[in-house]
Parts: sequence; C-alpha cells; structure tokens
Amino acid sequence: MPLDIVTLPCLSDNYAFLIHDAASGETAVVDVPESGVISEALTSRGWTLSHVLLTHHHWDHIDGLTALLEAHPAKVIGAAADAHRLPPLDHAVSEGDSFDFGGETMEVIDVSGHTVGHIAFYLPQTGAVFTADSLMALGCGRLFEGDPDMMWTSLSKLATLPAETIVCSGHEYTEANARFAITVDPENPALKARITDITAARAKGQPTVPSTMAEELATNPFLRAVSPDVQRFLGMTGAPPAQVFAEIRQRKDNF
Ligand code: ZN
Ligand code: FE
Repeated sequence: MPLDIVTLPCLSDNYAFLIHDAASGETAVVDVPESGVISEALTSRGWTLSHVLLTHHHWDHIDGLTALLEAHPAKVIGAAADAHRLPPLDHAVSEGDSFDFGGETMEVIDVSGHTVGHIAFYLPQTGAVFTADSLMALGCGRLFEGDPDMMWTSLSKLATLPAETIVCSGHEYTEANARFAITVDPENPALKARITDITAARAKGQPTVPSTMAEELATNPFLRAVSPDVQRFLGMTGAPPAQVFAEIRQRKDNF
C-alpha cells in the first residue's frame, strides 16, 4: 500500500509534508518551517512522529525543529555534508544512501545547487520525491551556493525518475514561476494549459504542490533546457543543456 502523504502549508509560502504508514504507524515530516502546523496535523490525526527529514539548512526549512521535537521526539535525518550547519542529526546521509521507512526504502539523492548539501528524499515504491528548493513546481531554487552545472546535474538526476512520480517541493511559488516560464517557452501548449490550471487553483486558494514529474518534464522551463523549442527560442540550438539551463536561470534571476 502506498504511504499517505499530507501537504502542510507553513509560514507564508512554504510546504512541509507528512508521510504516514498505517501498518507500522511510522510518520515522517519533511522539513520543519514551523512547529505549530505540523504538531496540530499530527495530533488531529492521532499520528506519532517517528522521523524528521531535513532537505537543507535554510531557516525556513528547519526553524520549527526544536519546538517540534519538544512535543514530538523523533529521529532527525539530514545531509552528512551539512551536519555542521544543520540542527543535531541522529542519522547523517549522503547520495546513494537509503534507509527503511514505513516498510519502504527511502533513497537519498544529492540535489545540490540552491545550497551545497541539499538532498532530496525519494520513495520509489510510493512514487514520490521530496525536492524542497531543488526542483520546484514550474521552477527551481535560486543558486545561492552552487553553480549552474551543479544544479543541472541535480535536476538531470530527478528528471530520470518515473513520469508518474509525485513531486513534493518546498514552496508555493508556482504562479510567479508561471509568469516567467511563458517568456522562455511561449509556444508550449502544455505550459499554457498548466498556467490556466494554476491560475484557477490559486484563485480558489488551493495549493499547486505537489505536481508530477510528467508535468514538470513537459512544462518546467529549467528541465526543458534540453528542448529544441526552448533552445531555438533562446538562440541556443545545439548548445550543451547545462549552458541553456544557465541562461534560463540567469533570465529568471533578472525577471
Ligand atoms: Zn532554501
Ligand atoms: Fe526555502
């Protein structure tokens, strides 16, 4: 049975996620922007927190941890590479590591670029990946620490996951991302259709996260650095995808 995934809006535009296995009772939270929302979500469902999975060191992904652990003690898992600047870890993990969660295997993927040491958590059996500020709905994280080559390598790894994979990313930035996406991929019918859906969802106050890998591959301009249409539009036909990605990322930074 696939694990239950609950999307929790936190702060002004962050997302945390609960992952729950009914059989074992194990429950993880991915990132802790604040404690109250997460604590309430656990209590109202009668779930006991067992794992905290941290994607990267930015405050808006870890700030609620101390308060959360006071009420809900759990095992904290994060990147070994970032152990020096993350809250104390019970289990430090790296690219290629995996661990058991809820009767499934949780795989660790290094997705550095936004920060160096940013990791994603992947559940192949449930078919979900927790990407935080690496791959986002119609976007990707700003390159605060890594360079374009590094982020392109990270996004390329995520792009190989099955198309039906659910992409649980860290922020509700999708409307702003859509305004930019259409400027570098203006003829893409899938993008136009998705923007219509995004606008409708946001008008009703509904989240646009999670998305699917299929949607991201078809419409996310950063993954579409390999698309002949996008390359032609940018005057970069045949250029190395990492270079096309760098151009798109720079345009977004200046958008
Ligand atoms: Zn971040
Ligand atoms: Fe963030």
